[in-house]
Amino acid sequence: MKYQIIPVTPFQQNCSLIWCDKTKAAAVVDPGGDMDRILVEVDKLGVKLEKVLLTHGHIDHVGAAKKLSEHVGIPIIGPHKADSFWLENLAEQSKHFGFVHCEPFAPTQYLESGDTVTLGSLTLEVLHCPGHTPGHIVFFSASSCTAWVGDVLFHGSIGRTDFPQSNHQDLIHSITKTLWPLGRNVEFIPGHGPISTFGTERDQNPFVADQLFG
Ligand SMILES: [Zn+2]
Ligand SMILES: [Zn+2]
Repeated sequence: MKYQIIPVTPFQQNCSLIWCDKTKAAAVVDPGGDMDRILVEVDKLGVKLEKVLLTHGHIDHVGAAKKLSEHVGIPIIGPHKADSFWLENLAEQSKHFGFVHCEPFAPTQYLESGDTVTLGSLTLEVLHCPGHTPGHIVFFSASSCTAWVGDVLFHGSIGRTDFPQSNHQDLIHSITKTLWPLGRNVEFIPGHGPISTFGTERDQNPFVADQLFG
């Protein structure tokens, strides 16, 4: 497995290209905007884009999903259906956050815990991690010990829970009971900011460090 981060939108959201070394089959995770920049990277890397994967329904993560899926002719997979209300109010979200107008859409397929997504010889496991949004999911590659966690967890911080249907307790539960069991050595790509490992956050993160739950 290989991946490359492409920061997109005024929010510098960490859109990622993930691909299978052997087949060059690729997916784009959270194309929040800047479709042309994403397509330039796809070309440069010589990979074959097969899927759009979404962690949750916020505009900075999904703003270019529909355009990209139609342009390339590929399905949109994820998030969990509990985020459908976010995808339905994308026009309002784009206005509210000052993004280019974005039409509401429904993905080709919603995901739940236990589902998998394949890319060539690569398998991504799906974990439902509600809290920041009720339908937030995480993509995990066990073979390369890497997770795409969207806005669940950041280096030194955690996702906001001041949105409609956010839930702080659910978020803490998702991080400590769903993500931590994957292993301290898991490297994660957050929706914003630098990559880190679960072990680093368990040691240092002021919101979810192990010592807070002693
Ligand atoms: Zn978000
Ligand atoms: Zn975000």
